[in-house]
Amino acid sequence: MKNLKPLQTATVLLVILFSTFLTSCSDHENETNETLNALESNAILLQSDTDALLFMLEEEKLARDTYEFLDNQWSLNQFSNIKKSEQSHMNAVINLLEFNNIAYTILPYGEFKDKTLQDYYNLFVENGQISQSNALQIGATIEDLDIVDLQEYIDHTSNASLVSVFESLKCGSKNHLRSFVTVIETIGDTYNPQFLTEEFYNQIISGNHETCNQ
Ligand code: MN
Ligand code: MN
Repeated sequence: MKNLKPLQTATVLLVILFSTFLTSCSDHENETNETLNALESNAILLQSDTDALLFMLEEEKLARDTYEFLDNQWSLNQFSNIKKSEQSHMNAVINLLEFNNIAYTILPYGEFKDKTLQDYYNLFVENGQISQSNALQIGATIEDLDIVDLQEYIDHTSNASLVSVFESLKCGSKNHLRSFVTVIETIGDTYNPQFLTEEFYNQIISGNHETCNQ
């Protein structure tokens, strides 16, 4: 520095100062962006929301896998149509999990990480192969359970994207329940709600087919 003329010194200092300013400014900007991204994708999703998504992914899988089995067993339109809808429900949950960078695993058909869901599947397969009448009761039972679980999660979260996905899944389940109960009544059987309150069940059954956002 000693040999530099004053103007040159000033220029060098200015360059140093300016580049320091630029560096610290862009570092700060990166940090801010990272924080915003984290806030947008992760921070607003509580652990309970993550648990809800992972559980519902497997419960939708329970529906898909059971209908896959019952479709092979009985070749009823309801099972072949509704199992496709269950795959799209799984995809909706997967999209939200991936958006939030949450790791998940999907076991092969008929296999579940959750013990209760595994027990349900085993029971449904065992009873569902006995008769078409049983198979249809199982369909209604799965939708009945689905609606209650989805409603429970909806009531206990403040995460808007989770509510929106679960509302859409619940809308689909209500259509599925109406569809199964219609066939059950056509063959002269009745379905008694096992999880839904009588009031909520009657409200669903008396309602019309709904168009659900996917
Ligand atoms: Mn579903
Ligand atoms: Mn369903």
